[in-house]
Amino acid sequence: KAKEFGGNTYTVFVPDHQEAVEKKLVLQRNLRTALERDEFYVLYQPQLDLRSGTVQGIEALIRWKNEELGEVAPAEFIPLAEGSRLILSIGEWVLRTACAQNKAWQEEGFPPVNISVNLSSVQFQSEELPATIQRILRETALDPKWVTLEITESLLLQSKSRTMRMLNELKATGVSIAIDDFGVGYSSLSYLKDYPFDCLKIDKSFIQHMNEEQGDELIVRTVIGLAHGLNMTVIAEGVENEEQLHYLHQQSCDSIQGFLISKPISPDQLSKQLWVDQSLGRKLH
Ligand code: C2E
Ligand code: MG
Ligand code: MG
Ligand code: MG
Repeated sequence: KAKEFGGNTYTVFVPDHQEAVEKKLVLQRNLRTALERDEFYVLYQPQLDLRSGTVQGIEALIRWKNEELGEVAPAEFIPLAEGSRLILSIGEWVLRTACAQNKAWQEEGFPPVNISVNLSSVQFQSEELPATIQRILRETALDPKWVTLEITESLLLQSKSRTMRMLNELKATGVSIAIDDFGVGYSSLSYLKDYPFDCLKIDKSFIQHMNEEQGDELIVRTVIGLAHGLNMTVIAEGVENEEQLHYLHQQSCDSIQGFLISKPISPDQLSKQLWVDQSLGRKLH
């Protein structure tokens, strides 16, 4: 297309840019009313414990369906929500929804599982976060030992003393902390030993190239050893095939999450596949 305009990239890129700006405005306008219009919902993705062969954890993943825009991916709207204070109310809604769902499963008599919820760095910056979590735990009457907060390395770019204080306040509520997307951020390894993480989630980019690239196999094996040495459990993300499962099992990875086990699914589908007809469990053997 640039050639048509004799290489004048200025005239070519301006319309594209405008389109992107307009899209962003439409997204922002709809995002502001999404909560009150009840347009968000949560899907749940099981995490399989490799030792027991059972699902012991479930990650809550937000979804947005808007009339004008259709389904919008979290990668698209979470950054926008983070630009405004909207992420605080959305984050709180996800947390409450996921905790209430986990409590409901327990009350239906299903074996208790852990629920993992992603935290935005903006939530982490808020001094009210520990109180918010405590309030949600009280409201939903869920025992905090069944809750994990997933944070990413980008959250750790704040001052070390402040980060440490916030992590300790969160841990004091009784929840666990997982470091998500491990290996793709900018932080140094030293925070792994300094901060009180319970679980490390290896980013899917390492898992997905393991079978082609020896370097990634080595990284995965080494990270598992490092995390275990520091008393953390390890979850591998993005596991899509048996070969990856086999390697992770061999390397004593604790749990796996990925399309091989299940895509993120609705709470009804999950309770059916996991506990009623147990089709999810059968897939694992
Ligand atoms: P994440 O926390 O790392 O979540 C895992 C993502 O990987 C999910 O994408 C999931 O659908 C996808 N995934 C799971 N298994 C596989 C697999 O085998 N292969 C591949 N290719 N992908 C797999 P999703 O749901 O689109 O979420 C993307 C990101 O958006 C999440 O990454 C998380 O950072 C963010 N996010 C999702 N829900 C929330 C939320 O409630 N709050 C916040 N702050 N962020 C959220
Ligand atoms: Mg996550
Ligand atoms: Mg992740
Ligand atoms: Mg991610």
